[in-house]
Amino acid sequence: MQTTFAPERLEADPQLASSEKILRTCVHCGFCTATCPTYVLLGDELDSPRGRIYLIKDMLEQDRPATTEVVRHVDRCLSCLSCMTTCPSGVHYMHLVDHARAHIEKTYRRPPLDRLMRATLAFVLPHPGRFRLALTAARLARPFAGLLAKLPGGPRIAAMLALAPAALPAASANDGARTFKAAGERKARVALLQGCAQKVLEPSINDATIRLLTRFGVEVVHAAGEGCCGSLVHHMGREEESLAGARRNVDAWTRVIEDGGLDAIVVTTSGCGTTIKDYGFMLRDDPAYAAKAARVSALAKDVSEVLATLPLKPARPTGQTVAYHAACSIQHGQQIREEPKAALKAVGFQVKEPAEGHLCCGSAGTYNILQPEIATRLRDRKVANIERVGGEVVAAGNIGCLTQIRSGTALPAVHTVELVDWATGGPLPAALEGHGFEGMADAAE
Ligand code: SF4
Ligand code: SF4
Repeated sequence: MQTTFAPERLEADPQLASSEKILRTCVHCGFCTATCPTYVLLGDELDSPRGRIYLIKDMLEQDRPATTEVVRHVDRCLSCLSCMTTCPSGVHYMHLVDHARAHIEKTYRRPPLDRLMRATLAFVLPHPGRFRLALTAARLARPFAGLLAKLPGGPRIAAMLALAPAALPAASANDGARTFKAAGERKARVALLQGCAQKVLEPSINDATIRLLTRFGVEVVHAAGEGCCGSLVHHMGREEESLAGARRNVDAWTRVIEDGGLDAIVVTTSGCGTTIKDYGFMLRDDPAYAAKAARVSALAKDVSEVLATLPLKPARPTGQTVAYHAACSIQHGQQIREEPKAALKAVGFQVKEPAEGHLCCGSAGTYNILQPEIATRLRDRKVANIERVGGEVVAAGNIGCLTQIRSGTALPAVHTVELVDWATGGPLPAALEGHGFEGMADAAE
């Protein structure tokens, strides 16, 4: 794609220079439109990757504040990155849309309700204490969901209430900065991201990860001072907040690297993994952090990548059929396809893959709250494909997808790592109680 940016602007602004390079790699072929969930649903070129690329190019090239039209179509983008998997020219859409979102945040004044909703999400979600309180309030407000839905901004409030779990698990006994020793000889040492929303919604996921990794000789460290990876605010264009989160985590893991070394930084929420793998890029122009951030990104691994290095085998009879849902952030964001399925198969599960596996389930961070109508249509389509494939349980590697899928089906849905932990000797995941797995659990005891 031809561009006409003034050379002095590119020289003065490295982010603009990087986006201009991305724009020039797009050859307008349109292959990406066929696999873009919003284009598939809405059929509007401006809701396709190519259409958005044109809108972003025009906005950046003319150095214009974002218009309502640009905001509407960029807001509808899920950042699922399906377009990046499809694009034959290697267009780095993720970095381009991240830049566009930051530009929108700086130059566009959203309507008051939209501003309030976004500010609330950014204030609450990355902080486990605040998130826990908000979920308690959501539970109390749920009986009034019908009334609240009629207020201005009601559909978003209703979407938020629908996603809040009926009961909150207690905080994990594993919380906080500490080290979990490997069982037997130590073969590797990793840091495990504790994160933010997942540890409130489902602490069992990281608990299962610690059990599983230590069982196979991996020492697991919770780094002091680590927190939200920054992706929730990053996708809202709140650049400074996301960079602050990235710097804090880089510092936390650098201290661990310098005090004993690390073989990997393990992430069990693939959305966070995509962002942490991008810290090197996000902080590339910060001389104090560029090298440290690149080192952290190089060490970051989705938990399924670590499972691929372990000699997994079942410790109890398994054989159940698992419908594997590939989170966009795993398959498109991190280009990880085989490892989660291989881990499930290695411990005896039969793995089935639903049709249209490349399409997003509609979760996408805060998307299912901010764009509830499109998100619900995508969820229903995803759930229909999952139910058609006929598994006894759904497995996915991202808490957002699990929450979204569960809100549309009676099938149990658990993190891949919880199934692998159970199959290799861990306890039955609570979500599987009453689903015919108990007999298998007893057989191993
Ligand atoms: S990230 Fe997903 S929703 Fe956004 S343009 Fe690409 S394919 Fe479409
Ligand atoms: S597939 Fe790639 S090169 Fe083709 S229009 Fe889409 S982003 Fe541009």
